[in-house]
Amino acid sequence: MSTSSTPEARPVSELVGTSTGESWLARYSNSLMGVFGTPQRVLVRGQGCYVWDADGKQYLDLLGGIAVNALGHAHPFVTSVISSQLATLGHVSNFFTSPTQVALAEKLLEIAHAPAGSKVFFANSGTEANEAAFKLARRNSEGGRRTKIVALEGAFHGRTMGALALTAKQAYREPFAPLPSGVVHIPFGDLDALRDEVDETTQALFLEPIQGEAGVIPLPDGYLAEARRITREAGALLIVDEVQTGIGRTGQWFAIEDSGILPDAMSLAKGLGGGFPIGALITFGAETSALLTAGQHGTTFGGNPVATAAALATLHTIESQGLLEHVRSVGDELRSRLADLPEVSEVRGRGLLIGFDLTGPGGDVAAVPQNANLAAAVVNAALDAGFIVNAPGPRTIRLAPPLILSIEQAETFAAALPDLVSTAAEALTTKEAS
Ligand SMILES: *Cc1c(COP(=O)(O)O)cnc(C)c1O
Repeated sequence: MSTSSTPEARPVSELVGTSTGESWLARYSNSLMGVFGTPQRVLVRGQGCYVWDADGKQYLDLLGGIAVNALGHAHPFVTSVISSQLATLGHVSNFFTSPTQVALAEKLLEIAHAPAGSKVFFANSGTEANEAAFKLARRNSEGGRRTKIVALEGAFHGRTMGALALTAKQAYREPFAPLPSGVVHIPFGDLDALRDEVDETTQALFLEPIQGEAGVIPLPDGYLAEARRITREAGALLIVDEVQTGIGRTGQWFAIEDSGILPDAMSLAKGLGGGFPIGALITFGAETSALLTAGQHGTTFGGNPVATAAALATLHTIESQGLLEHVRSVGDELRSRLADLPEVSEVRGRGLLIGFDLTGPGGDVAAVPQNANLAAAVVNAALDAGFIVNAPGPRTIRLAPPLILSIEQAETFAAALPDLVSTAAEALTTKEAS
């Protein structure tokens, strides 16, 4: 199956031509803004859980476009639904609606167990879903008496100015001061801090059930239930960011399901469109859903027929293929295989959102210099060996593969990891010596 022989691929390669990875990267650095650093590879094609680079090398994609490619690459049903919607009606302004938009909103409310009066706002990305949530929080001001939003240390909610104000990392925030004011970050997982900070001046509390960018760190057991109780008592909104954890990623539609709580709002994006860009904010109950009124928020592309069709196809496939159950079993198996390795000190996460910390080759922590970025070196060794993984921290690897990952595919990675850590450690010590 070569790229040039697939009929759909032909028009694209006629537009851009074909070249080597090296040549694309040279052109990239001359034409693309440097915010992402140098791309690791130039990818030209994907199929299921595999992608291929411009030089024909194949990779098992264990990152899934960072929890986006829920059904892998080029999923036939998602592809055909997108194509047929695009060939029927691609875009309308929000002066109009379309059947796919309405059907997707209804489906999201159903799977979120949202009570009567709950509503959906569609955006194009996670940060935009959180911008809508930020504005929703501001509307819970009770005539100016509520002025504060509470978020957690380690939080990542996006890169636009409102979402960035909710994001904790100083390196992301500082260059862009002043950010929207009134956001307080409290220590992660600390219920006393939560009780102290959330009060009658609080508009909202923002939480990720599992902090993804921080290295796949779940909230402690019982935290969400207590956060629900505290926010309700204070009259503050509880807003959960399920941009990374939602849409089956943890083996349930949403990561909050275990806790038994319903939030006041929930943001979604990443996996929702099965690779197509879409974000959503669900507001729970009529009162919260009425906080943003006509004219107070909007978007040109949000909720367009193609994106909402892609999401409907994704949700339908997750349901009809029993993927939630599949994610739980493959995730459990992979986590237990990883936990058995001496190269791994801790495994976190649920379903197919997995973070694990590295020790060193054969479990030898001392074999790697203390200040060396072992995880980044493992990412490189993995690429050379044909695996795509991610390093959210210097000793932490994150996996967020397609939900269709097979046990066998998962096992090839677990089996390869000891060698990847050795290769990475060698590369680091060679670098140190030179
Ligand atoms: C990725 C992410 C975002 C931002 O989503 P974008 O689509 O990149 O804007 C927000 N919140 C969480 C938890 C995320 O993982």
